[in-house]
Amino acid sequence: MTARIIDGVALAEKIKEEVSVRTAKLIQQGIKPGLAVILVGADPASQVYVRNKAAACQKAGLHSIVEQYGEGLSEADLLARIDALNNDPAIHGILVQMPLPKHINAHRVIEAIAARKDVDGFHVSNAGLLMTGAPLFIPCTPYGVMKMLESEQVVIRGAVAVVVGASNTVGKPMALLLQAAGATVTICNSKTRDLGWHTRHADIVVIATGRPSMITGDMIKSGAVVIDVGINRGADGKLCGDADFQSVQQVAGALSPVPGGVGPMTIAMLLVNTIEAAERTLAK
Ligand code: NDP
Repeated sequence: MTARIIDGVALAEKIKEEVSVRTAKLIQQGIKPGLAVILVGADPASQVYVRNKAAACQKAGLHSIVEQYGEGLSEADLLARIDALNNDPAIHGILVQMPLPKHINAHRVIEAIAARKDVDGFHVSNAGLLMTGAPLFIPCTPYGVMKMLESEQVVIRGAVAVVVGASNTVGKPMALLLQAAGATVTICNSKTRDLGWHTRHADIVVIATGRPSMITGDMIKSGAVVIDVGINRGADGKLCGDADFQSVQQVAGALSPVPGGVGPMTIAMLLVNTIEAAERTLAK
């Protein structure tokens, strides 16, 4: 078997076109959806992510601002900027790019963002709403994965799903979404004994560990759907995922590639969350 390759680029383009249409409608009604992205420090990967997010906003017709600060920005100054953006009516979504420098408490920063503008969905209120089944914002990466599964018409109800990775930003919300859609979900972490035993039983495997090529074909059930969230820089300088693409492709029924899979979907869903935040202000 050779897996079907899930084209995250094409699906993200389709979603962004829908966002453009919704943006144009909002603008007609006097609201230009606005996203503010804050970047602290000079992490090269973060700079690329922030640039890509801003470019996608502009292309879809949204107002976007990028605030870039040096590594030495104090936590108090960052919190003051967030407070100003919380009160800025031109801004509907606020995103602080992670990771932050060590002297800044990331939890405090996330909690400072107004929940109604927390388009990343990381605020504790939004995490709680997702957990209790009434999400305001779904975190962009797991949201994108759900859209990929939907577009591939993967049957989630009754399926066995394994999420490898348990972060607050990817693994945990991913597991909640799959569970809400009717899957029986196992969340694995770095302490999991015999990871392959778990993954081999799964109809759907979502991998988000940041460990290049750690899931190999022999750990996957024939025909399973494998979504690779990982973004790693290989020794050859090229991007690669957490799945060993060559061997997994031989066994899986469908597989998302890196690059060109979950990454573009994450950005598309950020735009969706921003437009939803702006539409809610109109509904008021
Ligand atoms: P974190 O480092 O926050 O979490 C990694 C998780 O993986 C932890 O729960 C950890 O376990 C688990 N883990 C690590 N090693 C193993 C292992 N050998 N076996 C099983 N589980 C393991 O990472 P993130 O969730 O933030 O990101 C994961 C990956 O996804 C990264 O490559 C990141 O770059 C990428 N990413 C991609 C995005 C996209 O848009 N495509 C967006 C966000 C992230 P433990 O809890 O025990 O420490």
